[in-house]
Amino acid sequence: MQVLAVTPEIYPLIKTGGLADVAGALPLAMAGQGVAMRTLIPGYPVVMKRLRRKRAVHDYASLQGGKAAVHAVKLDGLDLLVLDAPHLFEREGGPYGDAGGADWPDNWRRFAALSQVGADIAGGAVAGYLPDLVHAHDWQAAMTLAYMRYGKAPATPSVITVHNLAFQGQFGADIFAGLGLPAHAMALDGVEYYGGVGYLKAGLAAAWAITTVSPTYAQEIRTPQFGMGLDGLINARADDLYGIVNGIDVDAWNPQTDPHLSRNFSAKTLTGRRANKRAVEQRFSLAADDGPLLCVVSRLTWQKGMDILAAALDDIVGMGVRLAVLGSGDRGLEGAMLAAAARHRGRVGVVVGYDEALSHMMQGGCDAIVIPSRFEPCGLTQLYGLRYGTVPIVARTGGLADTVIDANEAAVAAGVATGLQFAPENPDAFRVAVRRAAELYADAETWASLQKQGMKSDVSWDRSAAKYVALYRSLLARRGA
Ligand code: ADP
Repeated sequence: MQVLAVTPEIYPLIKTGGLADVAGALPLAMAGQGVAMRTLIPGYPVVMKRLRRKRAVHDYASLQGGKAAVHAVKLDGLDLLVLDAPHLFEREGGPYGDAGGADWPDNWRRFAALSQVGADIAGGAVAGYLPDLVHAHDWQAAMTLAYMRYGKAPATPSVITVHNLAFQGQFGADIFAGLGLPAHAMALDGVEYYGGVGYLKAGLAAAWAITTVSPTYAQEIRTPQFGMGLDGLINARADDLYGIVNGIDVDAWNPQTDPHLSRNFSAKTLTGRRANKRAVEQRFSLAADDGPLLCVVSRLTWQKGMDILAAALDDIVGMGVRLAVLGSGDRGLEGAMLAAAARHRGRVGVVVGYDEALSHMMQGGCDAIVIPSRFEPCGLTQLYGLRYGTVPIVARTGGLADTVIDANEAAVAAGVATGLQFAPENPDAFRVAVRRAAELYADAETWASLQKQGMKSDVSWDRSAAKYVALYRSLLARRGA
């Protein structure tokens, strides 16, 4: 089966979020399952630098205001089609904005171009290559499905994956004339969205199937609370809506071989974690003791519930737990964390910044990881926590609800619990969860059983990839029907 993926990011070439991990992992995980996935990405400078010999497989005399070409290349085990369009993508800064963080004003044009090329390839623009199915990721690639529907590939099955509904790609109605779509596309069941043009909305309307990155998030986005204005449309498409949780890179995240740990360990050698705990204590200037050490590795934002943590911090320190925080984000929340560290010297430690190596050390040495998110499409840090015996304490939402089994009495008795969940997402419920965790921790045998059970969880890509493949097959069968 030939699948064309269209994405604005792909690990390891260009990454700002979990979308890149998914786009980079799926082709490799699917290769063993009878799917050949090629991925169309924009030719950002970091990508173009990697092309040694350019081999254009398609040319445009004019694409959204300039010359463009599509190059085929194999990089890092990925089969890529790179859209070389210097007037759109040859810029310093990030994939969506300048170095100061301001969005590029022509993002509508940049990602319309990417999408138009995706649809052209779906329609046979690259000689010798005709994908059976197209899989688009997020708003930046969503218009691919609209261009297919209103253009050359209306009968090709398609999937759109929503990694975070908060990002929708909404633009004014004035851009419609520049999209090159037929006039009737500017309609309620087309690309029109609240009087303007909605890229994600257009993709959701055109896709044969819609997926999100966890089953619970798939249900949550059908409600006004999580639907961000799209719940009506998503409900109308409920029969074609699927939730498939992300996996993680189990080689990069393997406590038995992780080079960032002071001591490697397995479920059989959990005492090896102690050396890592000492290393975390030192790094965060925490008092060394054998009480529970919690950690946070997160963007410090409202979505991640970091204000909930800040509000409960004094109380949980009063319970005898210590906390190590690694993160950056809102200045106000960074300040609140630093202030807490100053109030609770030796009990709370904070590193503001992004530090991949330190995040591994924390997963290898802390007893629990705290994730009080208000919404969480999937979440990765709880999956790392499961793999490393770092018991996740999570809000019962989205992918957190789907991947952590709460240590209620029945689950503990049955030996299936892997962490703690709390709801609703507020400081009171969070305090209760931390108290429960501290009590469980005091019973070394029960705590070790939580850790070991978590370490048994299958957090690899294999299962998720098989679910995507099954979905692809069902759509191809529908086309054939
Ligand atoms: P989101 O993509 O919404 O930020 P996820 O849990 O899906 O949340 O993914 C976050 C990823 O970024 C994880 O791999 C996590 O370890 C990593 N991360 C977040 N903040 C930091 C940080 N300050 N330092 C190192 N890694 C971080």
